[in-house]
Parts: sequence; structure tokens; C-alpha cells
Amino acid sequence: MAVIISGKEVSAKVRAEVKAECEQLKEKGVTPGLAVIIVGNDPASRVYVNNKKKACAEVGFVSEEYALPEETSQEELLQLIDQLNHKPEIDGILCQLPLPKHLDEKAVINAIAPEKDVDAFHPSNVGKIMIGDYRFLPCTPAGVMELIHHAGIDVSGKNCVVIGRSNIVGKPMAMLLLHENGTVTICHSRTKNLKEVCANADILVAAVGKPKFVKADMVKDGAVVLDVGINRDENGKLCGDVDFKEVEPKASYITPVPGGVGPMTIAMLMKNTLTAAIERGASLSAN
Ligand code: NAD
Repeated sequence: MAVIISGKEVSAKVRAEVKAECEQLKEKGVTPGLAVIIVGNDPASRVYVNNKKKACAEVGFVSEEYALPEETSQEELLQLIDQLNHKPEIDGILCQLPLPKHLDEKAVINAIAPEKDVDAFHPSNVGKIMIGDYRFLPCTPAGVMELIHHAGIDVSGKNCVVIGRSNIVGKPMAMLLLHENGTVTICHSRTKNLKEVCANADILVAAVGKPKFVKADMVKDGAVVLDVGINRDENGKLCGDVDFKEVEPKASYITPVPGGVGPMTIAMLMKNTLTAAIERGASLSAN
């Protein structure tokens, strides 16, 4: 029987810490502000944006929503980002992805001022993650690390396997594990002997996007299993990349879906926005 690491519980703790720090910052005259841009009518994006606004209200941030129509041009979107880059009371800018097909995501990410890039997607922030000198941690991998720390798991010297090599989860996840001295392997769709590689992991992170992809025979006895996936199973029920029912008896620690990594992502976004606001406060008092 594995210990279930509750993202619900840990994310509530992170949000409470952010709220307390936000109150202190407000006493110095700085209220953290997050601008959230959503383009088009993607229902999943709408849910994410609503959750982010809700989290901002809970921790005491100001949030501004910019809901743009599907047919918004690249130029219009870049203009809005430029305005927000120059808006002093906005500390963080987030453009909800995916964008409609006619818009260039890369150009949009590049347009956000790195000091307001609370998703940590801008190449300058990605580079900082690589060298371990970061202002912002990418929200989902940072959430996974927070769960690992909360459970008291020491990464140093452990065999860590990350399944998935996306820019937003897999790659930065591997970096954060490496920075904590894990011996890290990144697996992907072309990996040979995936089962054997995974079965050697002390810490296994699944970020594949395939329901119940990780089966018991891919997991070592006593492994720590962290499930980033958010999928629907054959009955339309929310599930992760890990077959929880099969894997849980073999693991020492495991995160559930829902209630695992998912709630951590928004909590870490709040933390990044707070970091940006603290920097604004510091530069205000220096001037
Ligand atoms: P992605 O589609 O960009 O990347 C998936 C990765 O899985 C790719 O690198 C691919 O090489 C790898 N992959 C695909 N098939 C494979 C196979 N058969 N064997 C080994 N590797 C394989 O997805 P992503 O954006 O990294 O997201 C991954 C999952 O995490 C999705 O379910 C997504 O919804 C979820 N997600 C959750 C959060 C959260 O807040 N919890 C945040 C972001 C993404």
C-alpha cells in the first residue's frame, strides 16, 4: 500500500503561505496583479482561466481577464501583451494555451516580458532553469517537486525517470530533478525498452497524456510515482497517465488524479506571481 501524496492538501498549504506573504506585501503598498489572456472559446481553457482567477481572489491578488474573440489577429494579441508588459500594477502575464491555429504561440511566448512570464515559458526563463538560476519555476514541474519535498523524499542519487519530453512538463521536470542530484532519464515516444527503463526508476514521473499508460510491470517495488497526466478514461472519467489501481500496491508513494499534481500547478502560478510582485516591491523601495 502506497502513501497517497495529496496535492489538494499541499496546494492549500502553498496558497495559504502565498496569501500570508501577499498580506505583508500589501502593507508595503504592493498588491500582486496577474493578467490572464484567453483567445477563443476552448471549454477546457475557460475552466483553467476561471480556476486561476478564483485562486487569485483567494490569495488576495488582483486578476485581470482579457477574453479575446477567436478571430483576434497576431498583431492585436501582441499589442495587448505589449500594453501589459508596460502596466506597472501587473506582475504576471499568462496567455492560456493552446491558442487558435492562426496564432503563433512561439511569438506570443517570446513577447511576454521575462520578468512577468509567470508560466516560465520564455526562452530566457527556460535558459535560467537549465543553469539552475531561476526567478520562476515552471508551474507543473515545480508542483511535482513541492509534492516530493512535502513527502520527505530525497532525490539525491536516485534513479529518476520522466516519461515525456514536452517543453512545459517533461524537459523542465528532468532539469529540476537533476538540480536535486537525481540521475535522470527522459523517455519519449521513440524510447526503446520503455518498460525496462521505467522499472528501474526509484522516482517515476509520468507526463505522457495517455490514460492509464503506466502499468504495474513498468514500476519497481517501492518506487515513488508522480502522475502529471490529465485524461479521460473509456467512461469519460478523469484519470492520469498511471493505472492507479494496478500501480498503487507496488509504489511507496503515489499521487492520485484528480487531487494530485493538478491543483499544484495553479498554486505554483500564484507563487511565481508573488515572486514577481516582491521584486516590484523591492525595486519601488530602491527608487
Ligand atoms: P505533450 O503531448 O506535449 O507531450 C507528451 C510526451 O509524451 C511527448 O514528449 C511524447 O514523446 C511522450 N509520449 C507519447 N507517447 C509515448 C509513448 N508511447 N511512450 C513514451 N512516451 C510517449 O503533453 P504535455 O503537455 O507534456 O502533457 C502531458 C500530460 O500532462 C497530459 O495529460 C496533460 O494534460 C498533462 N498536464 C497536466 C498539467 C497539470 O497541471 N497537472 C499541466 C500540463 C500538462
